[in-house]
Formats: sequence, structure tokens, C-alpha cells
Amino acid sequence: MLQDVHRHAAFIVGVVGFSLTLGCAGEPGTAEAIEESADAFSTAPGEPNHEEITSAALSFLKPAVISALKIGNVSTDAEFHFSNAAHFDDCNFSGGAAFIAEKQAEAVAALGPGIAQLDGDALALLAFSRSLHAVQDFYAHTNWVELGGDVLVDQSLTAFPALTPYSAVPSTGFIVVQGKKPRETAVTRDDDAPYPEYAIVTFRQRRTTAYGLVSGTVDYEPGDHCPPPVAMTHDELSKDKTSLTDRVEQHLAAKALAIQQTRHEWCRLNQLAHDAWGDAGTARLAAWVADPSSAPDCTTE
Ligand SMILES: [Zn+2]
Repeated sequence: MLQDVHRHAAFIVGVVGFSLTLGCAGEPGTAEAIEESADAFSTAPGEPNHEEITSAALSFLKPAVISALKIGNVSTDAEFHFSNAAHFDDCNFSGGAAFIAEKQAEAVAALGPGIAQLDGDALALLAFSRSLHAVQDFYAHTNWVELGGDVLVDQSLTAFPALTPYSAVPSTGFIVVQGKKPRETAVTRDDDAPYPEYAIVTFRQRRTTAYGLVSGTVDYEPGDHCPPPVAMTHDELSKDKTSLTDRVEQHLAAKALAIQQTRHEWCRLNQLAHDAWGDAGTARLAAWVADPSSAPDCTTE
């Protein structure tokens, strides 16, 4: 696995280094080379949703930086194929949240003065792209959208928060359904209802009722944390393709939230880099930006 990470990091150094050397990522030869390399990692015959979300959210970055983030993002499906945490599957919310925080901490560490700049940038891009994959999967693989969640799961600028089993997500009040339910509580859903009603999970504790947040189960990923009465398979719940014609509306809603969250993660990364390394940390990230005027205003977004 470590070797794989280095292989990808070396590849991304190649992509970034190539365009930096030429000084213009927009030159046709360079752009074509990057596109061809990116194709090798695409999730054919799927739709390029992770790529589109990343481009739409981070369009203000340099083309070579966006390409590196897309490659790292998409390759997460191969490198972390068996990890439910990296894709928010199997109701592994605490694992998914920890994966995001860990990858972003790795990105910040790589932006420090201890690593040569080009290597550090490549490692930071790879680690950040992994975290973006997971935040994007969150909206496609959970019932956030079906529960009516129309805000981001987290909009703080501190490290991505823990999603602790059976805690309430502050932004919506949804209860994280993960593992065995606490005593004297109930989790239910109507398996016979049509989509999207069957995806609505209810959590009851004494006289209070709240919505329950779950994700779909994936057989080949070890560890299933979805309680049997409310468990749904990945196919029953995922909305990661437009080809799922019964849930186009939910697909679009999930994609819009994923774009917003991805844009927000840029702000979080900047804040974390500043917390760790001061202005030198944010200067490293500023060098990734092509068009500062369309970058988010991180004091308000
Ligand atoms: Zn995934």
C-alpha cells in the first residue's frame, strides 16, 4: 500500500512538475498528456462524477493541480477498494470521518518545511484528493439527501469532526446510525415503501424522534456497521449515477452538496495549513491557485 502511495505521488509529481517546468499548463501538448494519464485512472465504464465534482468545485485552481486532484480522487476507488471508510459504506461513519481528518492532516504535514516543495506538493495533492473522494461519496452513498438534508454535513474550519455512533450531526440533527443501537432506543424504516420513502430511517429514544443517518452495505468491504432492521444495500441507496433513473433528483442533490462540500474542504485545508505553518502554509496553497478572484472567500463560505 505504501509503495502504491509513492507510485501515485511520483506520478503526480510528474504531472505537476511537467506543467510547472513548461510554466503553462494550458499548452496543448501538456493538457493532452495530462488527460491521457488521467484516463488510465478513470472508473470506466462509470460516469466521471468525482472528476466533474472536483472540477466544478475547484475551478479556480491551476489545470495541472485540478488534474492531479482528479487522478488521486478517482484512484481512491482502486487503492482503497476494500475500505468502507474511504467511501462511507457499511454505516462506517466514524471511520469515514477519521479517514478525511487523517488524509487532510497528511496533506498539511506535507506542506511543511520538512519536505522538498515539489514532493510535498505531490503528497499534499494526493492526500487531499483522498479526503475529497470520501466527502463526495458521503452524499452519494448515505441517506442524507433522502432525509431532506440540504445543508453540508460540516462547515467548520477545524479538522473534519468525528461522526460518533448515535450522536446527532449538528447541522441537521440526524442521528449517526452505526453499530448496535443503544439500550432503550429503536431504529426503524419501512422496507416495503417505494424509493425514496424506504430510505427514511427513524431513531426513537424515549419520546423523542429523529432521522437516522445510514449508508449502503457493500459485501466485499469487510465490516458492516448497519443494524439489520434498517440496513440497505449499496444498490438500494446509492445515487452516484444519472443512469439510476428512479433517483435522478436525488443524484443531482447529492452532487450539488458534494460540490459545495469539496469547495468548503479547500477552505478547511487552508485554515489547517495556516494553523500548522502560518502564512508559509497558506502561501504553498496559494501557489496552486490560477484565478484568485473566483476562489472562495473562506471567511464566509
Ligand atoms: Zn468511492
